[in-house]
Amino acid sequence: MIDLHCHTLHSDGTDTPEGLALLGDQARLTALCLTDHDTLGGIPAFLAMQTRVKVRLLVGTELSCRFLGKSLHVLGLLVDPSDVQFQSRLEELRGRREDRNCRMLVRLAELGCPLTLTDVQAQADSPLLSRVHFAKALVARGFVRRAPEAFERLIGDDCPGFVPREELSPSESARWIRESGGVPVVAHPGRFAGGGFRWDEAMAELQRQGLEGLEAYYGDYQAAEQKYFVALAARLDMVVTGGSDFHGANKPGLRLGRGRAGLQVPDDLLDRLETQQRLGAYH
Ligand code: AMP
Ligand code: MN
Ligand code: MN
Ligand code: MN
Repeated sequence: MIDLHCHTLHSDGTDTPEGLALLGDQARLTALCLTDHDTLGGIPAFLAMQTRVKVRLLVGTELSCRFLGKSLHVLGLLVDPSDVQFQSRLEELRGRREDRNCRMLVRLAELGCPLTLTDVQAQADSPLLSRVHFAKALVARGFVRRAPEAFERLIGDDCPGFVPREELSPSESARWIRESGGVPVVAHPGRFAGGGFRWDEAMAELQRQGLEGLEAYYGDYQAAEQKYFVALAARLDMVVTGGSDFHGANKPGLRLGRGRAGLQVPDDLLDRLETQQRLGAYH
């Protein structure tokens, strides 16, 4: 079993990269790919653990794109961590995130929930601040009782306190990932459904824009969803990947490698992914 999607405290998870590598061994995984949002900040510590664990440690990241008026997440699996150009592109994305965060602070103040940047930073163990840390700060300052309430009332995608970032196009994200030697994959496609469009047509369009894989195995999916996306990927000749989207204590009840229940991502998906990586061609 493998897990090609998880987060550490370098983005919005709660575990250290070292801790995550150890958890991968405990879960008896054969491979584990770290995919923090917009950063490879946890990668050096993660890879340094390779001498201490049996699980094969792999490099990835998760980027946010705008597609059909909604946010679409794209995994960059097997990117090159020593690629300076890719690093500077990620730095630009983190800059856009910081701009967004400042505007969210203004918006929240207008809504009667004044937070300072320091309040949000106090909830994070790395420089990258995400809405997860906003939610915790809103709890700490007593504006909401629990983090889910913050997403329901204030900072969820359709809430008044949410400010979107300037996001990449799918084709741009695919190109950045490809140019860094990685494989661009549509993350948790099920979360994107329900927008009044046909999924198979939307996926075909994403494939035309350079997306090469589909995360058909996912920590939150029911069996029927998994089956649907595996079949869709086969029909479109896209690579199938899978992962838990583990966030530690920030996603309670979801386990590395296992998801919420019986997630089992087969080893041979990684062979196919590595073959795709070597092909290195745009569709
Ligand atoms: P950001 O990248 O800063 O916009 O924050 C997005 C992160 O917030 C996601 O990766 C999730 O971890 C979390 N998140 C977004 N929406 C929700 C929600 N409705 N409930 C709980 N967590 C959420
Ligand atoms: Mn996340
Ligand atoms: Mn995601
Ligand atoms: Mn994720």
